Amino acid sequence: MNVDKERQQMLLSQIATCLQCNDCGAMCPFSVVTENDAYSPQNKILQLEPLMKGEVLSPEGYDAVYLCSRCGACNDACPAGIDIMAIIQCERGLLQEQEREPQKTTHISHNILTAYNPKGAPNDNRNDLWITEDMVLSPDSTVAYMAGCWIALKNVSIAHDTMKILNACGITPRAIEGERCCGLFLIDNGHLDDMRAYAKEYTEYLEAMGIKTIITSCPACYKVLGTEYEALFRKPAFEVKHVLQVYKELYDAGKLSFEPQSGTVALRDACPLKDLFDIPRELLAAAGYEVKEIKNEHVFCCGAPAGAKPNYPEISGAVGKVSLERSQGADTLATYCSFCKHHLDGIKESEGEEGIPVEDIASLLVKAMKR
Ligand code: SF4
Ligand code: SF4
Repeated sequence: MNVDKERQQMLLSQIATCLQCNDCGAMCPFSVVTENDAYSPQNKILQLEPLMKGEVLSPEGYDAVYLCSRCGACNDACPAGIDIMAIIQCERGLLQEQEREPQKTTHISHNILTAYNPKGAPNDNRNDLWITEDMVLSPDSTVAYMAGCWIALKNVSIAHDTMKILNACGITPRAIEGERCCGLFLIDNGHLDDMRAYAKEYTEYLEAMGIKTIITSCPACYKVLGTEYEALFRKPAFEVKHVLQVYKELYDAGKLSFEPQSGTVALRDACPLKDLFDIPRELLAAAGYEVKEIKNEHVFCCGAPAGAKPNYPEISGAVGKVSLERSQGADTLATYCSFCKHHLDGIKESEGEEGIPVEDIASLLVKAMKR
């Protein structure tokens, strides 16, 4: 069982404390762009009780459950402290057990469990896709670089620029021979039984390699390996750092410094990294860029994760367009999540518009780095 009965009851009791203030609806990117209260988190959580009873949801109630990128903005906004994200995860877990989840969600989950990446692409050679001859890697290092699926399979230039910075500052990590997806999609979709086994297997594999520190460019890998595996299995014997933290350490130590650049950079924050939001601002400013804010009090998600993009491409695209529109007037839109970049590039491509260039922060820092 993905979520045990006791936890289901605990989550149900939280729903009874809802103040019906709709603070969550004002934050949720999917209810905002659709202007449909049926998709507000307030309504999403009301689907739990019928699902626990095994009832079939209305089409709108069903869509409400899956029109969610699990960005966390609703949890941050809720004055009653309701764990809306956990309730949606539980609803999805029940729908999976009832064999009613969207086919694309089942398909992607199967890809992760069998091919170890969301696309179902061959995984054995994934390091060959991003490792280049000029990179300095140390096969016996206890520090590993984990690129992440959307970099290895779609955005290798992020790994190239990241490794240029790390190598220039004297860090020569190892690659992970058997690197695989962290499994966030499975967590987001409530496949917790599968994830408990998956987290155990991958944790033990990484530990057996003697890895003590994982540096990753992927916010999902950072969050999942760094915190979720402990809840699903146990605390790993390695620490996980997002590469932004490493850049900051190098900058503070005087090992990473910049030639002043010019231009305005709009910043698309990564939802899982809200504890690190100061770092990209500090680094971009240190490199001479003027930072244009596109978030308000809360981050407005790119709209792609957790199955929103494959299951509801038009609405997911409409959410992504908000970031592009808010960036108008800047020279570049900077991201530090490869999935945000992949999604926003895809929107521009589908509309045949050149639009604002979307660049990972590593690419902007490499341009500015003193060598
Ligand atoms: S996690 Fe994000 S997308 Fe999901 S309901 Fe909350 S605000 Fe909406
Ligand atoms: S913010 Fe919390 S209390 Fe307010 S409507 Fe949403 S779930 Fe209910």
